[in-house]
Order: sequence, then C-alpha cells, then structure tokens
Amino acid sequence: MKGVVILGSTGSVGASTLDVIARHRDALRVVALTARSNDARLFEQCLEHRPDVAVLVDWLAAGRLAEQLQAAGLATRVLRGEAALDEVVRLPETDVVMAAIVGAAGLLPTFAAARAGKRLLLANKEALVMSGSLLIEAVRASGAQLIPIDSEHNAIFQCLPAAAVAGQRPPGLRRILLTASGGPFLGTPAEQLCAVTPEQACAHPNWVMGRKISVDSATLMNKGLELIEACWLFGVTPDDIEVVVHPQSVVHSMVEYLAGSVLAQLGNPDMRTPISHALSWPERWESGVEPLDIVGQGRLTFEAPDLERFPCLGLAQRAARAGGTMPTILNAANETAVQSFLDGHLNFTSIPTVIEGVLNCAAAAPVPNLDTILAVDRAARQAAANLIARLDGAAPDSVAGALG
Ligand code: NDP
Ligand code: MG
Repeated sequence: MKGVVILGSTGSVGASTLDVIARHRDALRVVALTARSNDARLFEQCLEHRPDVAVLVDWLAAGRLAEQLQAAGLATRVLRGEAALDEVVRLPETDVVMAAIVGAAGLLPTFAAARAGKRLLLANKEALVMSGSLLIEAVRASGAQLIPIDSEHNAIFQCLPAAAVAGQRPPGLRRILLTASGGPFLGTPAEQLCAVTPEQACAHPNWVMGRKISVDSATLMNKGLELIEACWLFGVTPDDIEVVVHPQSVVHSMVEYLAGSVLAQLGNPDMRTPISHALSWPERWESGVEPLDIVGQGRLTFEAPDLERFPCLGLAQRAARAGGTMPTILNAANETAVQSFLDGHLNFTSIPTVIEGVLNCAAAAPVPNLDTILAVDRAARQAAANLIARLDGAAPDSVAGALG
C-alpha cells in the first residue's frame, strides 16, 4: 500500500489523479489532499477519498472545511496555511507526492518532497523552470524518484532507457522532438489575436486544463516552459530540442537516438495516462483512458511553430540559453502577465510584450540557493506589474511605444 499526497487536488491534474487512485484502492491510499481556497470541492473529495489530512492555505476556507467535515462525521484532520503543505509531504506515511499546484506557489512544497526522498510526480513545471539546478540536486541528494507528469516529458521518460537518471543526458541520445498542439489560435490570423478573450484562450481544442496553463498553451509559452523543463529533466541543452506543432495531440513527444531510431509515445490526450504511468512505474496499470483509435484518427500531421505570431516560445528559448536566473524572471513575468490577461487588464498580444520588456531589463545571475530564486521572482513580478500598469488602457498599436 502506497500513501499518496496530492498538492493541488482540486485542480485539473489533481482531479485526474484522484480518478486514477480510485481505480487502485488496493494499492494506493490517500494520505492528504490540499488546495488553496476551494473548500467546497475539497469537502467533496474528502467524502469520496477519506484522506487522513486535508490542507487549505486560506485560513477562512479551512475553518469552513473543518465544520463541514465534523458535521459529516469524517475523521479527516484539517490543517491550514502554507507550512502545512510541507508538513503533509514529509509525513512518514507519505510515499508519493503529486506536485500539481499551479505556478510558483508550488515551489516550496515540491522542494519539501524532493528533500524528503519521496517519489515526486512533477506536474508543477514552474518549479523546475524557476530552480531546475537546485531541484535536480535536491532529488539526487535525497535519493527521491522524480517522474514527470507533463504529458510530453512523461512521453520522453517512457522513450528513455530504464537506467536513465534525472538530470543526466541519456547515452546515445541525439535530440528530443517536443510536440505542441499549437493551442486554440493555431489558425488565427495575427491581426485577430489582439482581441481574443480569456474564454477563447482557455478553450483548448484537445485538453481540459486549468486557466493558467490554458493561456500558456494559447501563447505557446507552455512549450517554452516545457523546453526549459526538458533541459533540466533530461540533462540536454535548448539546442538539443526541436519544437514540433502536432495539432492532433496523439504523439506526445519523441526521442531520436544517434543510430537514427526515433521513439515516440502515443495515446489519447488524457492526463490519466501519464499519471497512471507515474503512480505505477515501473509497472503499468489501467487508467480509465479510452484505447487509441489510430485508424479513426487517420492522419497525424507535424509542422514548425510560428514564432512571429507566438513570440513567447522565442522568449523562452532566449531565457533558456541565457540560463541562471533568466528562466525564473521569464516565469515570473509570464505568471503576472497571464493573470492580468485573465483579469481583463491586458491584451493577449501584450503578454509577450510585457515578458520581453522585463527580460530586456534583466541580466542572468547565478542561482546559488532558493532564497535568491524567491527574491528574483518577487522583483520580476514587480517589474512586470509596473509595465502592465503603464500598458493598461493603452491602444494595442501603441503598446511597444509605451514600453520604450
Ligand atoms: P488548476 O488551476 O486546475 O489547479 C491548481 C491547483 O493548485 C488547485 O488545486 C488550486 O487550489 C491549487 N493552488 C493554486 N494556487 C495555490 C496556492 N497559492 N497555494 C496552494 N495551492 C494552490 O491547474 P492544473 O491542474 O491545470 O495545473 C497544475 C500544474 O500542472 C501546473 O503547473 C500546470 O502547468 C501543470 N500541468 C497541467 C496539465 C493539465 O492537463 N492541466 C498538463 C501538464 C502540466 P484551489 O482550487 O483552491 O484554487
Ligand atoms: Mg505539456
């Protein structure tokens, strides 16, 4: 019996994880479920999955949850505040931690899991983007197992030799072909992108995901973050990775070896496949995902990304090559700009403008420790917020001028 903690259980990845766990109650037990403030959803999840502990970061929401659980007669303990996330991760009965909090908020509990030597199922790509060298070092030092959940990275992991080590380039590898769906605006003309709404940006053609990653998919920043993620996970450089747009989202990525073999992992676009793979690895368990109808699918197509319409991918490549604190700065500027877009204060096409403005003012510095990362993250968010304040209300065609 393995004990599982889900960081971010009320989100999209969290819910898919619970769906897989419910199919394997003989082998998996929920130790703790955690969320920020969604007490209603967490209460439902507690009723169904009976965790030992439920954590809400928001104190008022935690109070409501405790009352509801008591009234329902459940023994689940409620903890509150950020420190409780680290606490449940470190419990001796926790074997596996699903890191599925969105954004930089997931950084510290993800580190807690890595340092405690747990099996770390990493969906929270922002943690690796912000502090890849430190996280890989923490995993190595504690002997933790790091298994990627991001569908592309899980696909790559599945195509690597069994002896592959996190952070080390596998022998014989020539390059990685990182597939991208292209998002909801793949065919949208450049002049229409300025006016797209958050609802349109979040309507992904193939995947149902949280709002932040949905916007990242629409700008192609998601692929840029994934490129940086892949560099850390597999010990490669940005030049070892080719991004390929594959609108059907059936091939989840490919690994090319020196001998010319290209190995791919295919399947329906459903996060329960990588989640089930990581929970059961090195075994392979049933996940509830429909079998792939490859004949019905008919055609699989591949094309190069359009960096002019989607400049975020190029900005991420630039940050990846610069290294040091640059990816942290990129991530902070992106999170700030995306939230502002979702809140209706920024145009879709101003997201890369803000990120570029922040990168242009920054220089890459070494990454000695987490405190440096957190300070750089704060400063970059402030810089992005300042730029957004100058852009708010500016006409789209005067945006570049507003930043100059
Ligand atoms: P969601 O927005 O659906 O869920 C986010 C989860 O994180 C919720 O449980 C939320 O709680 C919790 N959360 C948010 N902020 C905080 C905070 N400050 N402190 C503690 N908990 C917090 O996100 P997704 O599930 O879509 O994505 C999660 C991560 O997985 C992201 O890093 C994303 O990039 C990655 N990922 C997601 C994929 C997908 O298919 N969705 C695919 C590949 C990677 P609450 O509900 O209370 O706000
Ligand atoms: Mg992905």
